[in-house]
Amino acid sequence: MITYLTLFKKEGVRLIKGNQRLLKKMNRTQVLDLIRREGPLSKAQLAERMKLTFAGVSKIVNDLESSGILFLRGEGRSSGGRKPALYALNATAFYVVAVDLSVDEIHVALMDLSTVTVDETCLAAPGDRTPRSYVEAVRLGVQTLLERSGIPRKKILGVGVSSPGPVNSVTGEVLYPPNLPLWNVVPLKERLEQELRMPVKVEKDANLHALGEKWFGAGRGADNLVYVLVGEGIGGGIVIEGSLYRGTPFGAGEIGHGTVDLHGPRCNCGNYGCLEVMASGLAVIRRIREKIRAGHASPHYPAPEKIQLSNVLKAFQCGDDLTIRELEETSRVIAAGLIGVVNSLRPDMLILGGKLSRGFPLMTDIVKGVIRERVVPALSEQLQIVKGELRDKSGLVGAAALVMEEIFTLQLK
Ligand SMILES: [Zn+2]
Repeated sequence: MITYLTLFKKEGVRLIKGNQRLLKKMNRTQVLDLIRREGPLSKAQLAERMKLTFAGVSKIVNDLESSGILFLRGEGRSSGGRKPALYALNATAFYVVAVDLSVDEIHVALMDLSTVTVDETCLAAPGDRTPRSYVEAVRLGVQTLLERSGIPRKKILGVGVSSPGPVNSVTGEVLYPPNLPLWNVVPLKERLEQELRMPVKVEKDANLHALGEKWFGAGRGADNLVYVLVGEGIGGGIVIEGSLYRGTPFGAGEIGHGTVDLHGPRCNCGNYGCLEVMASGLAVIRRIREKIRAGHASPHYPAPEKIQLSNVLKAFQCGDDLTIRELEETSRVIAAGLIGVVNSLRPDMLILGGKLSRGFPLMTDIVKGVIRERVVPALSEQLQIVKGELRDKSGLVGAAALVMEEIFTLQLK
């Protein structure tokens, strides 16, 4: 007969065992994360940083070494006795597949744990723009990379996908992305997992640009950062205390849909005068078209309806006055849209990335100038405003980091 006491004891043992497992996992992830961030470390250094006993750390490091993820890499400086052995991350113990899915193309890369690209392929987006065709293209891309590299499936930790948002990152569903009208509610994670037979994680593009810069780019030293993706549209990703801030349960970072002109044009989102409709790449194109139609001559542009972002960036490189004025004003509007973000979040760092900010390098300085002038002074003093370092790779690197998050940081959910 089971008494209440037996039940209580059983439940107690289950809880203690569960907590021990959790503690063990936490310690393992902390060892890996410390070595990833700081480079090779000795057992004594790890024990000191983690406030654990040498014997405790030694066991964790030995386990990780026998699983192949850590390896012995030389000796450190002696503090009197024997030189301590240093342990480093074996970046090729496992691999991840990173997918950067945009309206125009699908980029698939196979990366090691330090995000060195082993092989990559870039496919044009399918003509019919249907979710089914995108899934098939990703499947083909992944298959090609696995075959070419000869890396066995068991060494692949998973697949990270950067997708146009909004994305429910809990379920991996893409929800009505404005630039892909045939996509309604697409269970992208589920469909790709069926096709690839590997674990898949899906996140909106701007979040992964932020995560990529935080882990491997300009944001490495910053705990709190805001990444602003300025391309055809304007997106944002927020990192708070080292982790991506997704909102409840998702949807945070829509910096592009804050109002900067109450009476401005209607935006895709239904609001009027959003930052995106006033200062994105498409907004610049719209204004240049209007000026040319109104009689402003410029030798750098084709017929107004044919103007693309690439024409704008080329005209800027050729020193076209109209373009320079438009891009300067656009940068000031972007800065205006970021004042509220800085005042409310007070990040350590603001990172500007995306095609338009890369093509117009003065944008960072203009944004800096406006922010310094307009943000509450005590808040802007320590704020760094920088360009993204990963350039057009930040989506892929972020998608890889999304998969690696699992092993390097414990996701308590
Ligand atoms: Zn909007």
